[in-house]
Order: sequence, then structure tokens, then C-alpha cells
Amino acid sequence: MLNIAIDGPSGAGKSTISKLLAKKLGILYLDTGAMYRAVALYVDRTGTDVNDREKVVPLLEDIAIEFRGDGEEKRIFLNGEDVSEAIREHRVSKLASDVSKIREVRLFLVEQQREIAKKNDIVLDGRDITSFVLPDSKYKFFLTATPKERARRRYEELRSKGFDVDYDKILEDVNDRDYNDMNRDFAPLVQVDDAVVIDSTNLTTDEVIEVILRYVNTH
Ligand code: C5P
Repeated sequence: MLNIAIDGPSGAGKSTISKLLAKKLGILYLDTGAMYRAVALYVDRTGTDVNDREKVVPLLEDIAIEFRGDGEEKRIFLNGEDVSEAIREHRVSKLASDVSKIREVRLFLVEQQREIAKKNDIVLDGRDITSFVLPDSKYKFFLTATPKERARRRYEELRSKGFDVDYDKILEDVNDRDYNDMNRDFAPLVQVDDAVVIDSTNLTTDEVIEVILRYVNTH
């Protein structure tokens, strides 16, 4: 199977790039961040603190995550409910970053991600794909950009969707999530030695895709 693993910090453009890349190659795309977001949403809705490991772990049994839809527009379902929009809410980002520190939460989702990757030609993006989910994948990329640029992109994206947001607050959130993702004990965000590093600060989406495609076509 063709498995392309893409990691990097929040707002580096991973999902936009991965989606387009998958489309160009005619293969699937798996947004693993959406899965952490769905778990966070579920836990939060039960009124449970996402940091309370003892209470969160038993809830995993009640969570079924599914991606449905043909072609590019995959929607994510949590126990049969389409939560594709709900998981994008700003506060869910922080909840997802917190809940993703719990080892059992990670293993619960990683197992599903590996199963999907085993059966499909697919692009996966996340924080631990190159290091933990698919360390043996032939194609590993680490996509990054400066925190300021990532905050600027997130700001523009949220503004264009009509959200009233503050740039400084977003930059603070980007830095907080970076810290959380890089410093958790289990499967943190790391740049593995054999990943191709792409700094997208000064690159367009098309340019990043070109770099990846060139690499894939020549290796
Ligand atoms: O990529 P996205 O911002 O949607 O991910 C939400 C959160 O889920 C991240 O901040 C990160 O903490 C967590 N995550 C993770 N491992 C992944 C994907 C996402 O820990 N593979």
C-alpha cells in the first residue's frame, strides 16, 4: 500500500496539503486530528474534564468514529452524528490537544489509523504519523512554518469563515498547542531523522505539493 505520512505543528497547512495531494494521486486522505477532536467533543459533552484520565478512559468504549462520503468531501461521524463542523470550533482545538495527552486515547485512535492505512493507499496527517503510527512508511514529511505565519493563516481562515477572532490570542494558542504537542510524554510531535522537512513559511500550497510529488515520484 502507498502510505504517505505527514506530520507537523498546528497550522502548518497539513490538512490542506494532504487533501490536495491525495486528490492528485487519486488516493484517500485521513485527517487524524479530526479523530482527536471528535474524542474531545464527546468527552466534553458528557461534562467530563478532558484532563481527567481516570474518567476519560472508560468513555472510549462508547465512542465510534467513522468517515463517510465519496471523493474529497469526507465527513466525520461521531456515534452516527455528523460532527464535521462542531469539531472545528475554536475551543475544541484546545480540548483535543489536552485529551490527546492521554496514552489510552492515543492507542485507541492509533489502532484504527493503522488498520485504515493497512487496507488503503492513503495520505495521513497528524503529529505522530511518521514517528509512531507508521514509522516504517517509505514517505515521511515534516511540514512546518514559523509560529507567526501559522497564526496568521489560522487567523485568515477563521476570519473568512466569519469568526470574530483576535490575532494575538491565536498566536498564543498556536504556541500553547506546540508546547503541548511537543512535550507530552507519549508519542509527542517530533521531527524524525528520515523525514523530508518542508518549511512552508514562504511557499504556496502548490509549491509544497510539488516538492512532495517530486519526492514521491523519484523514490
Ligand atoms: O490537526 P488538528 O489541529 O486538527 O489536531 C487537533 C489536536 O489533536 C492537535 O492539537 C494535537 O494535539 C492532536 N493530534 C495528535 N496527534 C495526531 C493528530 C492530532 O495529538 N496525530
